[in-house]
Amino acid sequence: MSDRLGRVRAAMDERSLSAMLVTTPASVRWLSGFTAPEDARVLITPHDAWLLTDGRYVAQADEESRLEAVIERDWMSEVASRVRSGPLGVEAEHLTLASASSLAGKLGHEPVRTEGLVSRLRRVKDASEIDAIRRAAALTDRAFEHALRALRPGVREVEIALEIERFVRTQGGDGMAFDVIVASGPRSAMPHGTASPKPIEAGELVTIDMGARVDGYCADMTRTVGVGEVAPAHRELFEAVLEAERAALAEVRPGAHGKDLDAVARDVLTAHGLGEAFAHSLGHGVGLDVHEGPALSARSSDELAAGMVVTIEPGAYRPGDAGVRIEDLAVVTDDGHEVLSSSPKDWRVVEPD
Ligand code: ZN
Ligand code: ZN
Repeated sequence: MSDRLGRVRAAMDERSLSAMLVTTPASVRWLSGFTAPEDARVLITPHDAWLLTDGRYVAQADEESRLEAVIERDWMSEVASRVRSGPLGVEAEHLTLASASSLAGKLGHEPVRTEGLVSRLRRVKDASEIDAIRRAAALTDRAFEHALRALRPGVREVEIALEIERFVRTQGGDGMAFDVIVASGPRSAMPHGTASPKPIEAGELVTIDMGARVDGYCADMTRTVGVGEVAPAHRELFEAVLEAERAALAEVRPGAHGKDLDAVARDVLTAHGLGEAFAHSLGHGVGLDVHEGPALSARSSDELAAGMVVTIEPGAYRPGDAGVRIEDLAVVTDDGHEVLSSSPKDWRVVEPD
């Protein structure tokens, strides 16, 4: 914990900042342990650090925050009174223009715009963070098996999504890391097809993309299954995506570049005539946010390091017809990686009766 503050202070030194205001909820939680970070911020100076929140959270801040809590609705005045001179860094990716301008008024000078100063430090997870993600991934696996037992023709996508959510909540998860995607038949060609009222039919592919959240940390996993017998072309689409997923996952290790991993999967799919059908990037980091650094994409300049947790999730989509995505969560280890998703990913058919 003191190490986290120390790392932020080192990054502040590099930018010659005498204070840093952290407003991004995941970073506020990472630094303080406070579980209502949307209503709080963290102010860090070379020798002090505070959690700034309001009167609704007196008891909660006292119980959870590892930093001294300052309870005051007018938090900007509190910031200004603690940062009398010198440059104050703010998170340009989160602080609104309106807030930045009010803050400048209170400070009497413009805050310094930074981007990724704290979120970059969150990419490499410590043992307690990896443990929480591991538990989130295990709960996700169990919820997926539970969902498959409910999956049959006539059941609506949204009912499957609700089964998953109910299971996660009753089994001790905080909730879902994001809205569950259940996309069947032609809807499986929509990479972000949030569960709809559509009934699932025999002969369809069904893509389920889901992640439990445990102790604030997210999991993220996708599986595509068949309901009864599916068209040979759809089975081929599945096998091509699985080949791409395995090929990219095998290359996950310290020093691997996000753009190279993306290319491994894209090359496999291109060889199957599906290069254009892979309409998104390969993967992303996962932690307190379900989408965080590093980026695994064609434009990424990120390099993997031990302790990062990433997804590998190639997909292929034929609009109006069908789509497949297979996504695993993996932690980068000193000499390779460990896959945290343990749901089987080979071709799997849910029998229609
Ligand atoms: Zn996902
Ligand atoms: Zn993902």
